[in-house]
Amino acid sequence: MISDKLALVLGGSRGIGAAIVARLARDGHAVAFTYASSEDKAKALAVSVAASGGRALPIRADSADPVQICDAVAKAVEWSGPIDVVVVNAGIFTLGRVGEVELEDLDRMLSVNVRGVYLSVQAAVPHLKDRGRVITIGSNVAIRTGMPGASVYQMTKAAVAGMVKGIALDLAPRGITVNNIQPGPTDTDINAGAIGMLADRSPLKRVASPDEIAGLASYLAREEAGYVTGASLTIDGGFTI
Ligand code: NDP
Repeated sequence: MISDKLALVLGGSRGIGAAIVARLARDGHAVAFTYASSEDKAKALAVSVAASGGRALPIRADSADPVQICDAVAKAVEWSGPIDVVVVNAGIFTLGRVGEVELEDLDRMLSVNVRGVYLSVQAAVPHLKDRGRVITIGSNVAIRTGMPGASVYQMTKAAVAGMVKGIALDLAPRGITVNNIQPGPTDTDINAGAIGMLADRSPLKRVASPDEIAGLASYLAREEAGYVTGASLTIDGGFTI
């Protein structure tokens, strides 16, 4: 399954990002992916992709650091560039009601969830093929939060939904599509301890599996999705109905 297509996933060591790495590799991409701290999981994922006949390259890079983002893009391109698909998945979630949020937490969430997304796309753009794909991972909380204590996280994900519209227009002349996936509650570490409660509140009485979110990323990466751009696509089992 050797391919001349390169996908770069920012934040691919665990959860939704790891499922996207595995899925895009199955779809025939060589997949470079970043992680911040989960080195063992990142290496294990690369081994598992290789065992299935694919190629994956883990790269340590903190999405809060502009230099590390640029270095990661350069390493990916050197490995197997230019880039066909860039997926910006890295995101963090810290709870805190207004009046209780520490400046450090506010800055960290903005740095990773908003500035890091923008800078990742900006770093990748010069290396993206014409008719390439940009995919961000937002959240359905951009539409409806549903619980107190999530205002900063909601702000960051609403920013991403706005951001993709502008970038989609900027890149449209090159035929590059830019879309934002908005998952609902998904079975990952970010929801540790809350899966049962979230499933209860879902119309389908379950949370999503990371593979279901990866399936939508796989669709957006394909040629047949070439007329979808500037969209935020919500995949949340009816949570926001
Ligand atoms: P996880 O916490 O399970 O995984 C997060 C991934 O992002 C890890 O690979 C992590 O790397 C990476 N990451 C985190 N911070 C950084 C950073 N500063 N630099 C580089 N990589 C980083 O989260 P999920 O899989 O649940 O979430 C993935 C995305 O989906 C996020 O943007 C999240 O906001 C969004 N989302 C998730 C939902 C859910 O219910 N799970 C619902 C809606 C949206 P490392 O392992 O090294 O820490």
